[in-house]
Amino acid sequence: MDLAGKIRLIKDFPKPGINFRDITTLLQDAAAFRQTVDKLSELCRQFEADVVACPEARGFVLGAPLAYAMGKGVVLLRKPGKLPGQTLCHSYDLEYGTDALEVHAGAILPGQKVLLVDDVLATGGTVAAAVELVKKCGGEIAGVAFLIELLGLAGREKLKGLPLITLLQLE
Ligand code: IMP
Repeated sequence: MDLAGKIRLIKDFPKPGINFRDITTLLQDAAAFRQTVDKLSELCRQFEADVVACPEARGFVLGAPLAYAMGKGVVLLRKPGKLPGQTLCHSYDLEYGTDALEVHAGAILPGQKVLLVDDVLATGGTVAAAVELVKKCGGEIAGVAFLIELLGLAGREKLKGLPLITLLQLE
C-alpha cells in the first residue's frame, strides 16, 4: 500500500510558509493504520527494547499500538503540568522561547532499554529532548522510530550515533 499517499499536505499550517504533513488521513484508514503499526513493529523488534516511550500528542497515537504489538509497556512523555505524579523534566530551546517534556519519576528505570517513537522527525528538537529525558531517568536509547522523516530539515543530524528507523522519507 502507498502509505505516503495517505498523508495529506496542508500548506501554511500552523503558520505561513510551513507545509504540514497531516497524518489524520492515514490514521482514519483502517488498512493504512494497521500496516503502519505492523511495519514499524517489525522493523523495531531488532532494537530489543524493554519499553516504548512517546511524546504527546501524535507520538501517543503510534507509540501505544506499537508497544502493544511488541508486547511492551508504553511511557508517556508530556508537556509540563499534565502528569499527576512526581516528574522529571527536560527543557529545550525552540526558535522562539523554550518548551519542556516531562515523565513520571520511576516510569523508566535505570538501565532500561527504551524505544522512542513519534510521528514526524522535522528539526529533531523534540526527539533530542526526549533522548535527554530518558537519559536523565538512567534509561538507554535502544532505538528511535518515526513514521515520517522530513529530509529538508536534517533532523537525523541531531540523532547521530542512535539507531534510527523512518518508515517514509519525504522532501
Ligand atoms: P521537530 O521537533 O522539529 O523535529 O518536530 C517534530 C515534532 O513536531 C513532532 O512531535 C511532530 O508531531 C511535530 N511536527 C513537526 N512537523 C510536523 C508535520 O509536518 N506534521 C505533523 N507533525 C509535525
